[in-house]
Amino acid sequence: MTRNVREFQLVRRPVGLPTPDDFRVVIRELPPVAPGQVRVRNLFLSVDPYMRGRMLDARSYVAPYQLDTALDGGAVGRVEESTHPDFSAGDLVLSMLGWREGFVSDGKGLSRLDPSIGPPQVFLGTLGMPGLTAYVGLFDVAGLGRGETVLVSGAAGAVGMVTCQIAKAMECRVIGVAGSDEKAAWLRDHARVDATINYRAEPNLRKAIDALAPDGIDLTFENVGGDHLEAAIACSKTFARVVICGLISQYNDTARGPGLLNVRGILTRRLTVRGFIVRDHVKRQPDFLRDMAGWIKAGKMTWAETIVDGFERTPEAFLDLFRGANLGKMVVRLE
Ligand code: NDP
Repeated sequence: MTRNVREFQLVRRPVGLPTPDDFRVVIRELPPVAPGQVRVRNLFLSVDPYMRGRMLDARSYVAPYQLDTALDGGAVGRVEESTHPDFSAGDLVLSMLGWREGFVSDGKGLSRLDPSIGPPQVFLGTLGMPGLTAYVGLFDVAGLGRGETVLVSGAAGAVGMVTCQIAKAMECRVIGVAGSDEKAAWLRDHARVDATINYRAEPNLRKAIDALAPDGIDLTFENVGGDHLEAAIACSKTFARVVICGLISQYNDTARGPGLLNVRGILTRRLTVRGFIVRDHVKRQPDFLRDMAGWIKAGKMTWAETIVDGFERTPEAFLDLFRGANLGKMVVRLE
């Protein structure tokens, strides 16, 4: 690898849906590899909805991106040169040093991937942070039980498709809500989801859920928010749980909306509504990988991914998350 690498920086804080002009490419020369360091060439970059929150100058559970500085995020790369005792040239590594073509590191925050479990880019999706999110959200936050009726919004995305399949592995009845017929078909044909709703073709989400689950929902895994969450509350059984994983429909809002119109439904149905952030649950990583390996072997876990080719298309891939262009995990392939 040439020592010159490209990186993406944020030029200004986007208002509403970001545009390509909010980003710029900068060429940086990597330093030589000093003792105890590795040089990594990135192969796949992750783009994730949470990155939108980091583009705001607001206090949150993760620090905002700095302007005129390399953006970061999940990435899988190959070690090209190493003087670090734990890494050898050729190793595949996971890092948080995405949005750039390569980097030199002292090894902190790098982990070696086991390519026998799955292809490298899947460690950014089903076998990575989004998969762990589904796992801890269902088991640790929601207390998933066998045979429950589970509603998943954003069901054909990176987190959603793992959520659906874990719930199916637990013999649940799963209803998946997604934004196209193609996504709905994938969920039925590959994730073995019992019923699906294409919300874009459905004038009344609440009625559509009611028709599929006349006795109500035990557990909602909410990835979208807004009218999806309102419909989930309205269709919940008494004492049901609603896990708030994400609210992607609101991440580009420029003004505060009216809020949940049916908070009363939480009261009258005695619902438990609980938010969570995956980073509080990283200790579950070994259990997650063990169970995922088992489900994959048993034919109960598969994945889809949307691969965008070319480093220069990273912002485009990120923006496409908000247009629903991805089936499964959205990743950028660099070579
Ligand atoms: P996805 O792979 O699901 O990609 C985003 C998807 O969201 C799109 O494909 C689109 O699917 C849907 N979407 C986008 N805009 C809207 C909208 N306005 N209304 C309805 N659907 C929309 O992303 P992830 O799986 O990575 O993330 C899913 C959710 O989980 C996000 O809310 C994210 O913030 C959250 N998350 C939370 C974590 C936590 O720790 N709590 C960790 C990781 C993710 P469609 O075509 O179906 O509309």
